[in-house]
Amino acid sequence: MTHLTADSRGLILSCPSCSQANRQVYRQWDAAIRCGRCKEELERPPAVIEVRDPLSFRALVAEVSGPVFVDFWAPWCGPCRSVAPEIERLAGLMEREALIIKVNTEEVPEVASEHRIESIPTFVVFHRGIEMARTSGSMSATRLKSFIQQAIR
Ligand SMILES: [Zn+2]
Repeated sequence: MTHLTADSRGLILSCPSCSQANRQVYRQWDAAIRCGRCKEELERPPAVIEVRDPLSFRALVAEVSGPVFVDFWAPWCGPCRSVAPEIERLAGLMEREALIIKVNTEEVPEVASEHRIESIPTFVVFHRGIEMARTSGSMSATRLKSFIQQAIR
């Protein structure tokens, strides 16, 4: 499973033809973009997105028009590690219907405290910048997918 990185303006996609890094801005999260170097059309692969700073997190959640699923986790947390493969499967199941992101609460504690994350793993669904639902604990990719679908219904 591919892991993508994000900055304060968008997702970073690597071009499969020329390996140029390109930015898919958050407002165009569901649109195809063209590689800045070779003009090849780039589609975002099904991927888990790692968000590593508060500015990028806030921009992504505020600007992406579709559902954003966030896995708040930490490296020392056993249940987080055991659910990690399900999060990857979830990214495959949701393809381009939602963004599946991971926030390491050790690396970005500001985001965890802004959203009052008290236990991990905690999963939160945002839609158009608003928290729609949250849940905690281990579960399968298919259950997580229905959790997202119910949250945005
Ligand atoms: Zn290219």
